[in-house]
Amino acid sequence: MGAPEAFTQTTDVGHWIGGRRAPSTGERSQTVWNPATGAAARRVLLGTAADVDAAVAAARAAQPAWGEMPPIRRARVLNAFLALLNQHRDTLAAMITAEHGKVFSDAQGEVTRGIDIVEFACGAPQLLKGDYTDQVSTGIDNWTLRQPLGVVAGITPFNFPCMVPCWMFPVALACGNAFILKPSERDPSPSLFMAELLKQAGLPDGVFSVVQGDKVVVDALLAHADVKAVSFVGSTPIAQYIYETGAHHGKRVQALGGAKNHMVVMPDADLEQAVDALIGSAYGSAGERCMAISVAVLVGDVADRIVPLLAERARALKIRNGMEPDAEMGPIVTREARDRIEGYIALGVQEGATLVVDGRGCKVSGHEAGFFTGGTLFDCVTPSMRIYREEIFGPVLACVRVPDFAAAVDLVNAHEYGNGVACFTSDGGVAREFARRIQVGMVGINVPIPVPMAWHGFGGWKRSLFGDMHAYGEEGVRFYTRQKSVMQRWPDGTAKGAEFAMPTAR
Ligand code: NAD
Repeated sequence: MGAPEAFTQTTDVGHWIGGRRAPSTGERSQTVWNPATGAAARRVLLGTAADVDAAVAAARAAQPAWGEMPPIRRARVLNAFLALLNQHRDTLAAMITAEHGKVFSDAQGEVTRGIDIVEFACGAPQLLKGDYTDQVSTGIDNWTLRQPLGVVAGITPFNFPCMVPCWMFPVALACGNAFILKPSERDPSPSLFMAELLKQAGLPDGVFSVVQGDKVVVDALLAHADVKAVSFVGSTPIAQYIYETGAHHGKRVQALGGAKNHMVVMPDADLEQAVDALIGSAYGSAGERCMAISVAVLVGDVADRIVPLLAERARALKIRNGMEPDAEMGPIVTREARDRIEGYIALGVQEGATLVVDGRGCKVSGHEAGFFTGGTLFDCVTPSMRIYREEIFGPVLACVRVPDFAAAVDLVNAHEYGNGVACFTSDGGVAREFARRIQVGMVGINVPIPVPMAWHGFGGWKRSLFGDMHAYGEEGVRFYTRQKSVMQRWPDGTAKGAEFAMPTAR
């Protein structure tokens, strides 16, 4: 299979329903840009409630047989998909770079982290094993099993068009559900390519669908009585809306939101490692990662030592088209997003922060119309500033100076977001105390971006996650299944008479 149509052609990107490409029943569409060149690359069709109805109908028709299939046979389909993903890893990565802008090596890393989840989901027979108690009472046994929910949906953000859908659909499919994906309208092609690979792997038609679109499609999914659960990843205001609206319609919802991730640098930290970590995690993927570090919390005298080193490295970033081999940072996803980020830089200056490195107005030779902005560094940022409180989602690192460890912990814990956090120190006692006291879902000790591996599950705290269960891992299996408890006794020929008291173990 060569590069897919959606990528090589400038034609419209439509839906995937019932195991084939499908046009939209509506008229609306949106431009998909190549952010490195600033050129309109193709259009994505924006779906309608009728498109959602068609996808749900196909899913409903296909799900019972898929859900009845022994888990090991479902796992074999996922295994075939895994092989295809590995085979087409670079095609998928190039597609991500073309529509998102991130550098190719980073896109390859994204695909690999998606593949990790598919590998995890291939363990479906083990993951779905129930538990069993022999003899809960004399002659009675009790066991639990987990059954699929039916038709479930996922709504995903632009910043990981392959990995974040892979947080959801491999686990949902392994559990026996049919899945409908509503990808971001800004980089829609990887979703269609993955749909094609799933079909090639032997997934029955209708079990996986893609409906492209915006709020219209999201609202139709949220209101549809046959959609039993919704997974969402995106910004906090939309996550909250999805959680509340989905719950109102009686659905199970997990909605992962935005972030403002802090990295605390203690005076005893290895400075070189801390600088590398801050530069990579603040400016990698142009800061468009929910686990990007956007705040450096500099404890005691470390600030005066580290800020000049950070400034030097931020100025030297190699900003290029993401397909160039030495690129360290690519463009921002859209012109509007670039303008929003640069607006925040102007706001930081107005608020009185010290602008050490100004990334505004960055021009990349040969790509003058691309949506580039440079790495930006602020010092002396305070907690009341909007550039500290709000998610900028761009390559802007804010340094906050605090006197000691306790002040660092209090600062992080007072923030409304709680997705990821890191602490750089060479003191094991400090590291342990930090990991235990910090009010954040994912913690790194001398690790700047602690994205948990496939079998651990991903999720933040506070306003970074609405719902009870994290994505993927065992929590993902629980999210996409319902537990059933069965208690069994076989007649032994001895009538016992009616019992009126609450039964207890005998
Ligand atoms: P976004 O919230 O704008 O969009 C996410 C999804 O919601 C898209 O599919 C979009 O079409 C849909 N959507 C947008 N507006 C909507 C509306 N009004 N009603 C219904 N649906 C709507 O997010 P984005 O800009 O695509 O992605 C960046 C955001 O995602 C950042 O805030 C980032 O922190 C967050 N994110 C979080 C995680 C996490 O795991 N917590 C991971 C990746 C990204």
